[in-house]
Amino acid sequence: MKKRPDPTMRADHPLITTVVALVVVAGLVLLATRSSGEAPQSGGAPAPVEESPPPASGEPHGLTVVDAADVVGVEEAELAYDGGIDVSVTYPVIPNAAPLTDFLERELTDEVHAFEAANPGAASFEAEWNLTAAGDGLLGVRMTRTETDSEGSREGYTTYWYDTATAAHHPSSALVAGQRELEELNGLVRESVGNGDGDGSAANPDTIHPISSLYDSVGFNPDGDLVVEFDAGQVAPAGEGRMYAVIDAEEAEGLLSDLGRHVRDVATVGVEDFAIAAPPEADKDGQDEGGPVPGGPTAVNEDVDCSAPETRCVALTYDDGPGARTPELLDALAEYDARATFFVTGRPVMEHPHTVRRAYAEGHEIANHTLDHSDLAGLGEGGVRHELDVVQALVYRETGHTMNLMRPPYGSTDEGVASVTANMGLAQILWSVDPLDWKDRDASVVHDRVMAGASEGAIILMHDIHGTTIDASRTIIRELDARGYTMVTVSQLLGTTTPGEVYVDGVPDDAPEEGTEPSEDDEPSGTPSDEASEEA
Ligand code: ZN
Repeated sequence: MKKRPDPTMRADHPLITTVVALVVVAGLVLLATRSSGEAPQSGGAPAPVEESPPPASGEPHGLTVVDAADVVGVEEAELAYDGGIDVSVTYPVIPNAAPLTDFLERELTDEVHAFEAANPGAASFEAEWNLTAAGDGLLGVRMTRTETDSEGSREGYTTYWYDTATAAHHPSSALVAGQRELEELNGLVRESVGNGDGDGSAANPDTIHPISSLYDSVGFNPDGDLVVEFDAGQVAPAGEGRMYAVIDAEEAEGLLSDLGRHVRDVATVGVEDFAIAAPPEADKDGQDEGGPVPGGPTAVNEDVDCSAPETRCVALTYDDGPGARTPELLDALAEYDARATFFVTGRPVMEHPHTVRRAYAEGHEIANHTLDHSDLAGLGEGGVRHELDVVQALVYRETGHTMNLMRPPYGSTDEGVASVTANMGLAQILWSVDPLDWKDRDASVVHDRVMAGASEGAIILMHDIHGTTIDASRTIIRELDARGYTMVTVSQLLGTTTPGEVYVDGVPDDAPEEGTEPSEDDEPSGTPSDEASEEA
């Protein structure tokens, strides 16, 4: 990992004065615009000055905009980033909010790194900040970033929430009460998402799922309506720009968490001379102390216990995708409440990002199968790291999830791979059943081999880039379900895994083995040379 550099403080730089002055001017213009649109004062008397806070500012389709000049002592830091692209990122430094500054620095560094790692054509990353709430112990920081690569430039948004007393920072999905409420909100967003231009139908509702990486910029407009905004290219073609949904305040009310209601109350009043009186208590470290935040689906189903005597778990795994027909497979899995693990490679993730997002949202496990499907053995640690790092970044950017499993292509691994994967927090997952679906493109043959090999604890290798495998899987899933198997993710089957270690199946070491399953010392039944002739 890159060592995080210290922020370069710009406190003495004339730029800061300029920025604040510009913000003041912008705020006055906004206020003037608002006033001119309101009913004239009775009697023509001038509007009272300094009697009450000004109204919250902002557009109906945007998050409230707080004038930085109304926050006492706010300064700006510039991110120091040591990488191969042009980076210009600023973030706020507010007196007595050091944990927020530290958090933003870490978060932005990770974001820039993921953009650079995921994108071979990455050219530049710029980001600037504004405040969207400041009051009553709460700050909202909205980042607007512009990523530029060989495809052009796209704007994206992330909004963070900070409790000034506890130093807890929250992602935007924490404004929603729970997963059920986020799913309900997702339904409303799918109905109303657009960009206000033309018919607003540019957005594809099917690409919107209740996961935190999509709900990462949520706030309120000055009227208290809930605003959800999406990055350019996230739920519509990139050229359509920012997409958003505005959920009426009354409709949103029942979906909000305590934090959400607090944010709404703060974001709907004007700000005057906001200051944080004291730093957070010394024992606070900025960690979120609340329960799980909505929008982080887990690949482990808490209703299933694979170690229970009556439960027979099996792990279906699909490599080299996603493919064009993977959504059909997801439909079949959903029908039987079955989970699977998808070992994805680089190009397919770039081509089918929405499928990755959907699979993740539906509780399947996403795991790393390298950028180029290279034989990792003998590639050298730098090469192995690159093959894995790119896919880690791609999936992180799509889902917000950091994967902890990988599968070496062809099952080919060595000490160097073990070392790199141990460093990256990735366990190596091989398999115990190989129907050779890449070789025999015959759905009934694939089906028969899987059913013959299936047993408790098995890890079954297939490839969702082959139509015959998709066809076979419909029957396989139905029959495994009928035979009493519970189809789970690899992480659920194995429980806690050790990075760098190689796993072949989920049969407990002390359990009597069924049939002729290999132990971890043996080659998996599909040997590396078998898979070596697979099409990439
Ligand atoms: Zn493969």
